[in-house]
Amino acid sequence: MGLPACFRGLALHLPDTLILDMRKDLHRVVAIDGPAASGKSSVARELARRLGFAYVNSGAIYRAITWHVLQSAIDPGDTSGVGQALESVTIACDIVNNESRILIDRIDPTDYLHDDRVNEGVSHISGVPRVRSVVVQKMRDYARSHNLVIEGRDIGSVVFPDTPYKFYLNASPEVRLRRRAAQGQRDEITMRDHADSSRLVSPLVVARDAHVIDTSLLTIEGVVNQIIDRLEQKGLHVPS
Ligand code: C5P
Repeated sequence: MGLPACFRGLALHLPDTLILDMRKDLHRVVAIDGPAASGKSSVARELARRLGFAYVNSGAIYRAITWHVLQSAIDPGDTSGVGQALESVTIACDIVNNESRILIDRIDPTDYLHDDRVNEGVSHISGVPRVRSVVVQKMRDYARSHNLVIEGRDIGSVVFPDTPYKFYLNASPEVRLRRRAAQGQRDEITMRDHADSSRLVSPLVVARDAHVIDTSLLTIEGVVNQIIDRLEQKGLHVPS
């Protein structure tokens, strides 16, 4: 995570401690990675609320691009078609009410992001390197203006490798399948996890310095409390 352009020249003449402080004050990122239905979204949203940070769901951008590709009648497995669709679309990301929002050619696709066909296609789309570089850039842009809690698959390993606040959530396959079924979604999470973990670009991995939490037997509040304890140990101020 580098300094914004306006500070770069200036940073050359400042002591290291001050540079670190400026960086910290400008954008702190809590990275929450893990497989599907590991509890990331509920935990990240609640954690962001407790910290007063903005909540960013990186999977939603991959889903929004998938929705757009499908709307354009392009097969998600057609890498060059996906690349072309990406060239001609405007993807606008902003923060509204402390949560990330995505507009695709000025349309808000939120209601369609968990459609069965998006669930099926998203791991193809997220394996396309050009798609990944667009999304990674959007994540880093968010961090220029806000303190963030971001959930995803590669946030700690690739997007923000320098953040000291990295968490990896997991849960047993049975618990994860039960959670999806309770949400009434048709989502082949085992297949998605396999595709996400075995792809060549930015596969789902536990970042080297991530703190791993098994959420199988924990409540959302229990997980958030564990994360907050850890953040406080690392010196992050958490509002009471
Ligand atoms: O988090 P969610 O299940 O909504 O993510 C949907 C898909 O987006 C994942 O299965 C994965 O293919 C992709 N994804 C990713 N990297 C991220 C976030 C999501 O590849 N940081």
